[in-house]
Amino acid sequence: MERLQRTQRRHLADLHAHLGTSISPATLWEIAQDKGFVLPKRDYHDFVEHITISPDNSIPLNEYFDTIYHKLLDKLSSGTKEVERAIYETFSGAYRSNQIHLLELRTNPMKHNYEAEVDLDQLIMAMLRGMERALLAYPKLSGGLIFCLGREFSYEKNKIIVEKAIKYHARGVVGIDIAGPYSSEFVIDEYKALFDSAHRAKLGVTAHSGEQKEHNDMWEIIEFLKPARIGHGLYAAYDLQLMKELVRRDIVLEICPLSNLATKSVENIDEMKYILRRFMENGVKFTINTDWPEVIEGNHLHEQLQWLIDKKILGEEELEKCNKLSFERTFVPGCGLDPYL
Ligand SMILES: [Zn+2]
Repeated sequence: MERLQRTQRRHLADLHAHLGTSISPATLWEIAQDKGFVLPKRDYHDFVEHITISPDNSIPLNEYFDTIYHKLLDKLSSGTKEVERAIYETFSGAYRSNQIHLLELRTNPMKHNYEAEVDLDQLIMAMLRGMERALLAYPKLSGGLIFCLGREFSYEKNKIIVEKAIKYHARGVVGIDIAGPYSSEFVIDEYKALFDSAHRAKLGVTAHSGEQKEHNDMWEIIEFLKPARIGHGLYAAYDLQLMKELVRRDIVLEICPLSNLATKSVENIDEMKYILRRFMENGVKFTINTDWPEVIEGNHLHEQLQWLIDKKILGEEELEKCNKLSFERTFVPGCGLDPYL
């Protein structure tokens, strides 16, 4: 079996990981004990099993959102003390156990402040403190936060998130994103001016799109929001014109293969392989990321890279290119890392 020698030696980058699903189960468990939070399982190992999914034990995306993500993961990492701890542990763990030297961690701050019971500025500063403490402890680690707008949120709430991202840009919020369950409330063209303001403030712009077959709004996202990157973008592989447009605009896709399998966004490994081959053949650039590193089995970045090689989805040279591209297209300014050191 081909081993991942070079990848294991080099610095890795993860540009697409969500806070709630990047916190280790041990940290979640400890936070729950400190808060006195009632968990659905009384035993730690039962709890890990409860929140963990895999390609063989998959669950539709919206079901996971409703039953686990928002009810447990976001809630446990809510509040200033808890979110600071969760972010510190997440950045630190990414460096220690995954050789990740560059991490962009995304989160919707309004999902961690108990429906505005906690002041949003206090919460955001706690997030930034958690990240700064980790960057201080691990000087070779670079990082930034991306604020996710919610597709299920009102325009007014999303506007506040963009304003906060701009306000805290100089302190480490490097970009904005759109995530969350699809909703008819979310009308993309209404967001054009808001995203223009983010572009003017030099924030990086990415957006979840093309992840679910039934909700493929990539054309509109590209047209109105002008993202530099797109989260997933899988279904562009079935639209030749769209692939050409991605190349023309030099938009990079943030691909998260194991996550897409575990949440049933793609049918199986063959489909994932087909999609990535189509991108390669048509010159569509993409990076490899985790999305949900701690709740999907075998989804730590170095494990996933090895899995891609073992399943003959991508080769080692191709993965090297993807990793190099992550360092080139990060929203974190001057991260100053040579991925081949
Ligand atoms: Zn995502």
